[in-house]
Amino acid sequence: MVSEKSERFSLQGIGASAGIAIGRVRITDRRRVSVPEYEIPARQIPAEVQRFRQALERVKGEFSTLRHQLSESHGAEHLCVIDAHLLLLEDTMLLTETIRQIEAEGRNAEAALKKTLQKVKAAFDEIEDEYLRERCGDVELVVERVLATLLGQKQEPITFSEGKVIVAAHDLSPADILQIDKSKVIGFLTDLGGKTSHSAILARALEIPAVVGLENVTSRIEDGSTVIIDGASGVVIVNPDSEAFRQYLERKQRYEYVELGLLKLKDLPAQTVDGHRMRLKGNVEFPEEVASINKHGGEGIGLYRTETLFFNRTALPDEEEQFRHYVEIVKRMAPHPVTIRTLDVGGDKCVNGLCLTDEMNPALGVRAIRVSLRHPDIFKSQLRAILRASAFGKVKVFFPMVSGVAEVRAAKALIAEAKEELRGKHPFDEELEVGVMIEIPSAVLIADLLAREVDFFSVGTNDLIQYLLAIDRTNEHLSTLYEPLHPAVLRSLKQVVDAAHRNGIEVCICGEMAGEPEYLPILLGLGFDELSMNAVSIPRVKKILRRCTMEEAAEVAAKALTFSTAEQVEAYLKSEISAHFLESID
Ligand code: PEP
Ligand code: MG
Repeated sequence: MVSEKSERFSLQGIGASAGIAIGRVRITDRRRVSVPEYEIPARQIPAEVQRFRQALERVKGEFSTLRHQLSESHGAEHLCVIDAHLLLLEDTMLLTETIRQIEAEGRNAEAALKKTLQKVKAAFDEIEDEYLRERCGDVELVVERVLATLLGQKQEPITFSEGKVIVAAHDLSPADILQIDKSKVIGFLTDLGGKTSHSAILARALEIPAVVGLENVTSRIEDGSTVIIDGASGVVIVNPDSEAFRQYLERKQRYEYVELGLLKLKDLPAQTVDGHRMRLKGNVEFPEEVASINKHGGEGIGLYRTETLFFNRTALPDEEEQFRHYVEIVKRMAPHPVTIRTLDVGGDKCVNGLCLTDEMNPALGVRAIRVSLRHPDIFKSQLRAILRASAFGKVKVFFPMVSGVAEVRAAKALIAEAKEELRGKHPFDEELEVGVMIEIPSAVLIADLLAREVDFFSVGTNDLIQYLLAIDRTNEHLSTLYEPLHPAVLRSLKQVVDAAHRNGIEVCICGEMAGEPEYLPILLGLGFDELSMNAVSIPRVKKILRRCTMEEAAEVAAKALTFSTAEQVEAYLKSEISAHFLESID
């Protein structure tokens, strides 16, 4: 009988980093360490606590050495992942709870740490936010390293003597990925993980195709089998036949050809055939994404989501830490501007100590600017950090989830106070531009009033669509009803642009709509001045932009506004785009 391991079959996982890789798989064993349990006699308890503390220190030392090596070999941009691991080693819950168990219950350090991990995992399981839940994997990886150290097992970095391979693992820590010789790895497959796990983020930053969340790939394939992975669709074909091989080879060549062609656009101006400029910028959550914005020709950051700095920690970052973080991004992006969004937590993005956990409707609850205005000291420390960063390059600031003028005035009053507190102590840009996100229907309706209060608008279409259509953006059962081209959305966008321009301010889109190349003619025709999107989309959008004229775009936008349903707009756009704009570039 032929076992499944040598048969041809395919698996469906989560596409975490686009691109196609074809090659031999190398299974690495990064499974959990097995933990002995025994009792510690009372007189040996202090020594056991000491053994635990030493193991923590040793692992911290290893991460610090790794950090140093990586800053030389990979540049500084990936270091935040190691920093996150170092922070976890400082975590008081891991430390105090483990020591409590050694002291109060006489457990050995390994068993006490394992028990603490179970408690931490139970707490993480309660969390609804997918991003935060996935951070639990980071805690596990750090604990695993401490356990291995306590047991005297050294965790060696993954090395390969043979040629290029696709690495398959139960899970890979970001530290594992960063240690791997990139010239030898052409793809990653893991049993665990999701799109927003740190490893997936790093795979994208390193531009290595990856499929995660395959559940049992390491037990279903044999070391050395040939596999094809499609990092966009999440498809993995094991032991492909010659037809699949030919098909994917062709697809891979096409993908690489298109990518190369798109990168050629990097230094060409983002402008229409008739010379109308539209700034194309990138959205970032992590400093390592800045390199990708530069590579793809982005002209700055249109949305920096600062809340990621507040996740995964017990204490909030203070002004100094935020300042260092913002300055790093500003310097990396120079001479281009960085638009920093103040904290957007609450709803599905919960941060310890700042969120209410028992709201009936969190999406309509205490979130974003509402949280900041309830905690003026925390808000002002962020504003001071942003202001101080503005002395190091072009910085703008904007507020999320604004529903009315009073909130803007209150937030601006706090900016004025923050400036006053800094004067004479730290330099900052006195003329710092202040904007608001337009992502609540009330903000659309009073866009003319808001425009008189601020220097720019940025439309958050992700939330605007959710609130306009009453469709929860995180609910997979409603995904077909989440329609960016719904007439209500298009009319809102027009109303916002017109109100902005009538009042002499600029308007950007920083929601996902901005990164959809086929929407470009509408957005351009409606009059948006700027679009901000994920880095990889920048050349794709620029390609269409450089084929449009303003007259054509205005016609497309005007026509799109005449339809009654999103399907009609979509069908019209598809025919319009393929008829006029989608020729190959050389
Ligand atoms: C938006 O709502 O469109 C947006 C850009 O903000 P976020 O996705 O962070 O809510
Ligand atoms: Mg939003």
